[in-house]
Amino acid sequence: MSDTIFGKIIRKEIPADIVYEDDKSLAFKDISPQAPVHILVIPKKPIVRLSEATPEDHALMGHLLLIAKRVADQEGLSNGYRVVINNGVEGGQTVDHLHLHIMGGRQMTWPPG
Ligand code: 5GP
Repeated sequence: MSDTIFGKIIRKEIPADIVYEDDKSLAFKDISPQAPVHILVIPKKPIVRLSEATPEDHALMGHLLLIAKRVADQEGLSNGYRVVINNGVEGGQTVDHLHLHIMGGRQMTWPPG
């Protein structure tokens, strides 16, 4: 199991505001929200980053995207939202456990920083 802060959240060793859970994934509110709605979707499998996913993760990757859509619907983001994966140092990744950011509830701008 992953040894990051997200591994501890999966194992319920530290609290998180969980909005969705199944056997393969978990979604919870970001502790430092950058939008009115800011939720992280993670696999329970400790994949470090997107670039370390393998063909055997094919179905899991699709599952995470569909969970992102489900959570966005659940949160009422009917006017749109953004899904972001930061990968590695230059991608701005700070937690070494793959996660999808779902952000919404305000107008997003482009390009991101
Ligand atoms: P990254 O920069 O790796 O793409 O995103 C990591 C995200 O995890 C950040 O948005 C950060 O606010 C969030 N985060 C870091 N530690 C915790 C925590 O302990 N609990 C929750 N809910 N979010 C966290």
